[in-house]
Amino acid sequence: MDVAELYTIPYKSLENGEHTLEFRFDDSLFAAYENTDIRHAQGRVGVTLLRSASMLELKVSIRGSVVVACDRCLDDCTVPVEFDGTLVVKFSDEVSDYDGEVMWLSPSAGSVDLTQYVYESILLSLPYQRVHPDGECDPEMLGRFRIVTGEEFDRLEQQAGSQGGAMRGLADLRRRMEESHGGENEE
Ligand SMILES: [Zn+2]
Repeated sequence: MDVAELYTIPYKSLENGEHTLEFRFDDSLFAAYENTDIRHAQGRVGVTLLRSASMLELKVSIRGSVVVACDRCLDDCTVPVEFDGTLVVKFSDEVSDYDGEVMWLSPSAGSVDLTQYVYESILLSLPYQRVHPDGECDPEMLGRFRIVTGEEFDRLEQQAGSQGGAMRGLADLRRRMEESHGGENEE
């Protein structure tokens, strides 16, 4: 099954008014984007869809958790996911780019694919720093690293330059996504 089918809402058969839907997300969503920073993911996506003649309004609530590498010890670290947002779907024969808040669909589309919205929303909801609570890092893993101060870390990061590192992967992606959104807005 194509991952997009899991996140596609066939609104055509829904009457005007409010509808509540729920579906789950898991590892397959991140596998579809070849995102290896997210080691595991699980949770649910609740959608309150308001259909009117001219548009759809989707209030999206995402709850769950993802497993990423701890920034400090690199061991698995579970981070809660909590996101609430509103997506507006408008209809036009001249379909414009999706900017993260308004999605344009052809009046004949019949369904709305939330795959990208859910994927980006989960990533954007994650805290910038992903570390275990103090004292819960893997002591064996920590022993292999020299613990550096924040200042030293900044310096090391600058030295690493554009090569980056595993722990900066997601931060880079976040930046790229923001840049690409910005670019679309300017068009
Ligand atoms: Zn840790």
